[in-house]
Amino acid sequence: MRIDILTLFPEMFDSVRASILGRALKKGLFDLRITNIRDYSTDKHSKCDDAPYGGGAGMVMTPQPIVAAIRAADPDHSARRVYLSPKGRTLNQAIVEAYAKDEHLLLLCGHYEGIDQRIVDYYIDEELSIGDYCLTGGELAAQVVVDCVARYLPGVLGNAETTSDESFANGLLEYPQYTRPPVFEGHAVPEILLGGDHGKVERWRREQAERLTRERRADLLERK
Ligand code: SAM
Repeated sequence: MRIDILTLFPEMFDSVRASILGRALKKGLFDLRITNIRDYSTDKHSKCDDAPYGGGAGMVMTPQPIVAAIRAADPDHSARRVYLSPKGRTLNQAIVEAYAKDEHLLLLCGHYEGIDQRIVDYYIDEELSIGDYCLTGGELAAQVVVDCVARYLPGVLGNAETTSDESFANGLLEYPQYTRPPVFEGHAVPEILLGGDHGKVERWRREQAERLTRERRADLLERK
């Protein structure tokens, strides 16, 4: 899979090269290309924003550099072109799994007051929000998308890091996890996990996952 990110702040993506995603990039399990939108500005000062028509606070990102950057990254429009935006549909597990099946994903990050609406209307396929709050820019949202999508690409997670039991993967929140020591400051790990009976452990985990989901996210059970 190839993921293109278009941004005015490429340095914000340095952290993607750490940890599990960094390992996957080194192994070539997916291809991450970061484009600085400013490189495509034809303005003599490389300007990429301007005051909003109609007045109001802040600056709006102009169409020319963004559209040139989109065309350079995706000349034949083979990518799913996504604009990270608080006005988009909200990211969820179904969207993550759908994106993970794409060959090519293009993520456009807005900044300031956002981008000229004509870009959204004519050059973008969909708008995606990561939640009902407003960020300063789309860069953190794009990192969230890269992280949760990459985990579904073959080979990115090792055998020890499977997605199958994780929260949302099967419509439930995950059961509680414990590790050594068996007693910490007087607080013991549930006895059943220490007994070595895999059937009992599986049943306990299932019950715990269902209990947690019922208590905290009954809406997930209704969707199942
Ligand atoms: N003026 C816009 C509005 O009120 O809808 C908000 C612009 S916001 C300050 C700047 C950029 O941050 C947006 O262009 C978008 O790319 C990104 N952004 C902000 N909140 C977001 C969210 N919840 N999900 C995804 N991207 C977001």
